[in-house]
Amino acid sequence: MNEPLPPRIAVYAGSFDPLTLGHLDIIERGARIFHRLVVGIGINPDKDALFTVEERLKLITSSVADYDNVTVESFEGLTVNFAERCGAVVMLRGVRTLSDMEAEFTMSLANRALTPEIETMFLMASEKYSHISSSLIKQIAKMGAASNTQRLRKFVPEPVIDPLLAKFNESRSES
Ligand code: ADP
Repeated sequence: MNEPLPPRIAVYAGSFDPLTLGHLDIIERGARIFHRLVVGIGINPDKDALFTVEERLKLITSSVADYDNVTVESFEGLTVNFAERCGAVVMLRGVRTLSDMEAEFTMSLANRALTPEIETMFLMASEKYSHISSSLIKQIAKMGAASNTQRLRKFVPEPVIDPLLAKFNESRSES
């Protein structure tokens, strides 16, 4: 007979700039599948981010407060190395479109070559969130079109709304 499986830990990594309802949906579903889910904020110094890593850490932590088996961390370097450090057996990804899938496919092959013992698993985005991306939210932010709470509620979790509005106001008062 096979040995009982050890607790399954998954890492869900991304930029989360900012966390969206689409991300949160993947987190909620992942938390039901795995014993523990670590949300990893990848630090990419080459990318211009709207929120600092510390801000994102805080916003995601408040957004996942209801899930006992979800933790949030930031990391530098390769996601596979972070996943290894977390003791993860799975790197979880969300896919929205075929073009997402193309990029994800290449990345998962590269990751498998680096760390064959960690599998990449994909969850299809939920239909109601599949149009949502952090970059869309940032675009709306730039246009100043979403500067009210009601509209933002369709895109981002509650704890993200006020800080996002504050960013719009910051950029408006700077211009
Ligand atoms: P990255 O910089 O790694 O693309 P993101 O923060 O944009 O980081 O996304 C992190 C993960 O969440 C990726 O696997 C991405 O495909 C997935 N994702 C992004 N938006 C959604 C959404 N609306 N529904 C489901 N998954 C999503």
